[in-house]
Amino acid sequence: MKIGTPKEIFQGENRVAMTPDSARQLQKLGHECLIETGAGAAAGFADADYKAAGVEVVKTAAALWKAADVVAKVRAPNETEMKRLRAEQTLISFFSPVADETNMNKAAEKGATVVAMEMIPRISRAQKMDALSSMANIAGYRAVIEAGNNFGRFFTGQITAAGKVPPAKVLVVGAGVAGLAAIGTSTSLGAITLAFDVRPEVAEQVESMGAEFVYLDFEEEQKDGAETGGYAAVSSPEFREAQLAKFRELAPEVDIVITTALIPNREAPELWTEDMVAAMKPGSVIVDLAAEKGGNCKLTVMDEKIVTENGVTIIGYTDFPSRMATQSSTLYATNIRHLMTDLTPEKDGVINHNMEDDVIRGATIAHAKEVTFPPPPPKVA
Ligand code: NAD
Repeated sequence: MKIGTPKEIFQGENRVAMTPDSARQLQKLGHECLIETGAGAAAGFADADYKAAGVEVVKTAAALWKAADVVAKVRAPNETEMKRLRAEQTLISFFSPVADETNMNKAAEKGATVVAMEMIPRISRAQKMDALSSMANIAGYRAVIEAGNNFGRFFTGQITAAGKVPPAKVLVVGAGVAGLAAIGTSTSLGAITLAFDVRPEVAEQVESMGAEFVYLDFEEEQKDGAETGGYAAVSSPEFREAQLAKFRELAPEVDIVITTALIPNREAPELWTEDMVAAMKPGSVIVDLAAEKGGNCKLTVMDEKIVTENGVTIIGYTDFPSRMATQSSTLYATNIRHLMTDLTPEKDGVINHNMEDDVIRGATIAHAKEVTFPPPPPKVA
C-alpha cells in the first residue's frame, strides 16, 4: 500500500506524521511511502532526508491524497482535506469524533476508513500507539521549560559569592501523563516540587520522582476521583472544597503552578481560582495545560500569555507539542508506525483492518460505510 503524509495546513502546526526513520520502518512492512514536498521542513526534516530514506516526494497535496491508499497526518482534516478523502482510503490522524462529528459522518458516507489517534485505548498493549500520551509527555516537559523562561529566578537553590538563592517551589496539579513529565522536569531542574492528584495511588510514583505528594485532610479521599480506564472521575463537592482549601493555603508560597487536571469528555475542572492567583507573589507563573478545555485556572486565556495586575504570568498555549516539533513528530510518527505494524500483520504491504482487534476497533470511527463510534469497551486491560 502507499502511505502518504501531506503538509499540515492548520496554521502554526509544525509537526509532521512521517519522519525519514518512520518511513524506513513502514517500508519494512512492505509499504511505499510518499510525502508532500516541504511537509517535514518545520519539524527539521528536509525533502532530501526523505528521498534518502526511499520516500517519494510529491509536489502537491492534491496529488498526494490522490495517490495514497493510507493518509497519515497530525491534525483532523479540514474542509479541503475532507473533499480529498475518498472511498476505500484510510485516514489516520487526530480526529475528535465528538467535535468533528459532521466530518466523521461524511467520511463514513464516502466509504473511507478513519482511525482517530485520540481514540487509541489506554491499555498496556496500545501504549506504543498512544499519541495522546506521547504528546502529553512533551507538553508536560515543555510547560516547565516555558514556566522557567517566564520566571525571573533559578529553579535550583544556590549559595553563591553574591548571595544565597532559594530554590523555586513548583506545584503540579494532576499527575497523569503530562503531570508526571512536568514533575520529572521540575525536580531535575532542582525545584522543590509538590504535586496533587485526585487519584491517591499516584502518590508513590510522584514521591519516587523526588517530589512531595500533597495529601488532603479528607476521610473520603480514597473514594473520590476513582480511576476508570486510566482516567479520573468527577470529585464530590466536599472533596473539591477540601482540595481548594489546600490550594488556597499553598498559593502564597508557590512560585510556579502547572495545571494538567483532566476528566475525559468534560470541560476542565476549575481548580486555581481568582483569589488564588491574587494571593500569589509577583513574578509567579502559571502554565495551564488544560487551556483548550476551558482551563484549570479561572483567568487563563486560551493560546495567550497574560500578566495579571499583581504580576502573575498565566500561559494558556495549546500547542506545546508543535513548539517541539522535531521531538513530537518523531514520537507521533513512531506511534503511527506501530499502528501500521498492527494493521499489516503479514508485513506484506497488505492492510488487514481487523475490527476484532480491541485497539484497532477502539480507534476506528468510520469503516465500511458505517460510523463505528463509540466503540464497545475494551476487553483486555
Ligand atoms: P491524564 O488523564 O493522563 O491526566 C490528567 C490527570 O488529572 C489525571 O491523573 C487525573 O486523575 C487528574 N485530575 C482529574 N481531576 C483532578 C482534580 N480535580 N484535581 C487534581 N487532579 C485531577 O491527561 P494528560 O494526558 O496528562 O493530559 C493533561 C492535560 O494536558 C489535558 O487537558 C490535555 O488536553 C492537556 N494537553 C495540553 C497540551 C498543550 O499543548 N497545552 C498538549 C497535550 C495535552
